[in-house]
Amino acid sequence: MSDEPPTDGRRTADRDFEVDLDDVLDDEDSDEGLFDDLLSGEPIFENKEVLRPSYTPHELPHRKDQINNMATILVAALRGETPSNILIYGKTGTGKTASAKFVSQELEKTSQKYDVPCEVEYINCEVTDTQYRVLAQLANTFIEQNRAFVDARVEELEALRSEAESDPAALEVGGSDDLFEDPGESDDGPDPENDLGDLRGRFTSVEEIDERIETLHEEKAEMEQVPMTGWPTDRVYATFFDAVDYVERVAVIMLDEIDKLVEKSGDDTLYNLSRMNSELDNSRVSIIGISNDLKFTDFLDPRVKSSLGEEEIVFPPYDANQLRDILQHRSDVAFKADALSEDVLPLCAAFAAQEHGDARRALDLLRTAGELAERDQSEDVTEEHVRRAQDKIELDRVVEVVRTLPTQSKLVLYAILLLEDNGVHNVNTGEVYNIYKTLCDELDADVLTQRRVTDLISELDMLGIVNAVVVSKGRYGRTKEISLSVPVEETEAVLEADSRLSDIENVTPFVQARFEN
Ligand code: ADP
Ligand code: MG
Repeated sequence: MSDEPPTDGRRTADRDFEVDLDDVLDDEDSDEGLFDDLLSGEPIFENKEVLRPSYTPHELPHRKDQINNMATILVAALRGETPSNILIYGKTGTGKTASAKFVSQELEKTSQKYDVPCEVEYINCEVTDTQYRVLAQLANTFIEQNRAFVDARVEELEALRSEAESDPAALEVGGSDDLFEDPGESDDGPDPENDLGDLRGRFTSVEEIDERIETLHEEKAEMEQVPMTGWPTDRVYATFFDAVDYVERVAVIMLDEIDKLVEKSGDDTLYNLSRMNSELDNSRVSIIGISNDLKFTDFLDPRVKSSLGEEEIVFPPYDANQLRDILQHRSDVAFKADALSEDVLPLCAAFAAQEHGDARRALDLLRTAGELAERDQSEDVTEEHVRRAQDKIELDRVVEVVRTLPTQSKLVLYAILLLEDNGVHNVNTGEVYNIYKTLCDELDADVLTQRRVTDLISELDMLGIVNAVVVSKGRYGRTKEISLSVPVEETEAVLEADSRLSDIENVTPFVQARFEN
């Protein structure tokens, strides 16, 4: 770009400027456009989308056993039988969601191919986290499908009706035109797209067809969508029940992050879903539960536990070699040839293997390293970029954890932070509690007991935000020494961004006041 003021497209088009954008673009000698400069740096990525969590890979190395296992159980659905319920366990990033989605896509594809009514309904229970919402979402999905089914049926019936009006034989099994007309010249016969075979033989008159159409219209009118809130749960359940059972089908209900649902809303949903089959007339329901928490079934009603856990599939963590394979597959598509220096993939794999074999972390690292290299206008991604990516992701995680802490925990953390900020290290619970109380006063917040605050400190310890070690003080007993395990500045910024905490002013005097005591 030259020294001239930046020109914006509109004004150029109005010819306020001497240089017309069109002239620049049409210039024969230099066909450099606005973005050429930016694009001309040695590009790193070929297709970055492939590294994003939303991308569902078609190939899942090292998950063949689990995928085959799922398929062997679910194939029952294609035979019109009810598949056993499945419970899938494994830590985050072990490929549970990706594998389950892959299998359901295959299942639906095959069911369409053989025309068997089988569907998979996916629900992420971290988002849809109450019984009401789960049932409402399922009900509405099936209602939508049922309406489409009615429309298609009515269309077929109308076609049959118009055939029957001119030729009553069309009502009989085998149909009139189907039998007598050469398939090659059926231009004035029935619509070849419409296979009415399964309707023939069911009606004896046009009036009966009309009645059926009328009934279908009425049924459709009664298919009322469940509102997002407001109905009693019984009614939502009944609506869902009727909607699934409206036509013959096997419905596989996939509840991802099922532990979050149970944690938040108990096991009523699972109880209701798992006993449905004994009451359904036309359809069958099968449940796939996916959990990051290996112990969540301890909280389930024993009946739910045994029904849901008919089949269990475990997804073990990946080791560094497996992670490297996974990264290799994805990076071949994601990056330009030669964009990765040799040690990048092994290092990403090694870092992620330390994070309990988390493939998501491995992919995040690789993508972030690529982005850092891009920003540096570097020719390739290096080990150094991976290390910086690791730091960045770790910091992002801390920021996110701190940001989403409950207010009371934030106040406790803020107290610890203020002490550190003022050069007081390895503080004890009593000292934290004093500052905490002052902060509560300042904000008019409820003051928890010291015992509760001790619990909150332990929680912060578990989240890796503070480090609390028990030290012996000889005859004075034992006490906890608490220190911050996250960067002070960033943490402070996150806490102060919380509108409830931003009212805190002049905290330093309080800290000093503590020493005067
Ligand atoms: P989980 O549901 O167990 O937390 P995901 O299925 O969401 O884990 O996987 C996390 C990320 O890692 C996703 O981007 C997914 O595509 C990828 N991934 C996991 N396992 C594999 C694998 N075997 N091959 C390729 N990509 C994988
Ligand atoms: Mg998942």
